[in-house]
Amino acid sequence: MKEGKNVIALTGVTGAMGGEVLSSLLQSPEDFYIKCIVYEEEKKLPSFVKKLFKKHSDRIYRFRGNIARYEDCIKLLEDADYLLHCAALIPPKSDHNPKSTYLSNYVGTKNLADAVIEGGNTVSFVHIATVAMYGNRSYPHVWGRVGDPVISSDYDFYSAYKLKAERYVLECGLKKFVSLRQTAVLHKYMFANNLKDGLMFHTSWNCPLEWVTDVDSGIMCKNLVEKDLKGELCGFWNAIYNIGGGSACRVTGFETLDAGFAMMGSGAKKFFKPNWNITRNFHGVWFYDSDVLDNFLNYRSEDFKTFWQRMSKKYSYFKLAKIVPPSLISKLVFKRLFKNTNAPMYWVKHGKEGRIKAFFGGRDKFEAIGTDWNAFPLLCEGKTPDGTVDYQKLKDINFARERLLNHGYDESKKLEELTVADLDGAAKFRGGKLLSSSYSSDPYEKLDWQCREGHTFKSSVYTVLKGGYWCPHCCEPKPWRYGSLAKDIPFYAQVYYDTHTKDEENDVYPLFEGEDDFIIEQ
Ligand SMILES: [Zn+2]
Repeated sequence: MKEGKNVIALTGVTGAMGGEVLSSLLQSPEDFYIKCIVYEEEKKLPSFVKKLFKKHSDRIYRFRGNIARYEDCIKLLEDADYLLHCAALIPPKSDHNPKSTYLSNYVGTKNLADAVIEGGNTVSFVHIATVAMYGNRSYPHVWGRVGDPVISSDYDFYSAYKLKAERYVLECGLKKFVSLRQTAVLHKYMFANNLKDGLMFHTSWNCPLEWVTDVDSGIMCKNLVEKDLKGELCGFWNAIYNIGGGSACRVTGFETLDAGFAMMGSGAKKFFKPNWNITRNFHGVWFYDSDVLDNFLNYRSEDFKTFWQRMSKKYSYFKLAKIVPPSLISKLVFKRLFKNTNAPMYWVKHGKEGRIKAFFGGRDKFEAIGTDWNAFPLLCEGKTPDGTVDYQKLKDINFARERLLNHGYDESKKLEELTVADLDGAAKFRGGKLLSSSYSSDPYEKLDWQCREGHTFKSSVYTVLKGGYWCPHCCEPKPWRYGSLAKDIPFYAQVYYDTHTKDEENDVYPLFEGEDDFIIEQ
């Protein structure tokens, strides 16, 4: 019965995050009434979600549907006070299904936002975005924050449509929204999911990753609603935040896999070769500003180490693996995945030169990696391609400021204090100019801008300077061509050339490979 209760609409309940959000909400003393839309094509519900549905049937209304269908969004949002929008098609599924990714990640989000507005704009919209929108990071730009450029990695349909969706949330006229950019999530399905797909090899060894656990992500959403109801979220809404687990969750790609395999008795070097994994075009960053969200929502209860301890207690295969030689596991489990179309070794064998270029920088660069760990510069061991670095100092947030990206304006001023000249300067840093002749000091007011290719567009100061967005016509990946953008746009160049060269300016990566019948809405 929902009478007298706060109603929370929830999407993505069958996913790694949404299930934990449901579980956490049900533990709240607030006694919420929860409405869930369960994706109609999801064949099997996770058993713990099924149990929650059964146990709390008086507090949960659920129905099968699809957020890409507008009527289903209207139905979900009827009587709702909050929307926790966790649904998204994520890798590896998104890598294989561009059309479904577009429908789920963009159309679904747009429908939900439109339905909130049509229903009177009274629902508080919590949008879960993603760290993948920041694109690839590597040394020296291992630290990131809100306002950094959003650059979808080549071929990454997931981030391409998530950034399109977030921009819509920012600009469509929602009265009360927040966009939370979710970092890499340590969750209970990660081994099972990754062991089925070449995605296993998409974690580059030296990428910075700030993890958060599935449980803490659930607590975060519960705390958000509880604190808002108590009036404790002053100054929180209508903004973007980065979700991250903080200092004890900051590692590299190598350290992540190494910790996982340590549970099996050996480190990553015993199971993998250096050239199995990509070297660029991934995503992940250490958040300079993830404490901001935790200060509002106090959600951190686990860290990188405690997650792996939880996993090793729960899953017996970690113990079992200790008695099987790593070389045998490597052969039976990992080399088997080389046949998957998402695996770099598949691209190498089958001449997928576009992928090899995007993820390694070219076949010659792939071949130079080799199989010897002693010859491979691991950042977590203090090695860079050109020399050495003090890794502990690199991870220390007190020394991070000097490594932050430039946003192209005087950040000592609040957005409300910026002048037309300041904004034009920020536009120049993005290769364009401000067309509007006045600014009312409202960062959500839409101004007129022009990009270097002559496109004109309306966007708010918040979207440009805090969202990290620029021209919707040429800077959204349709197709991916960040080489040509970085050439004239210093805002992108400062990070793009960490892993690319100037001679890549004409490289273009198709957006809908393998989906001939799918044409994007222009
Ligand atoms: Zn443009």
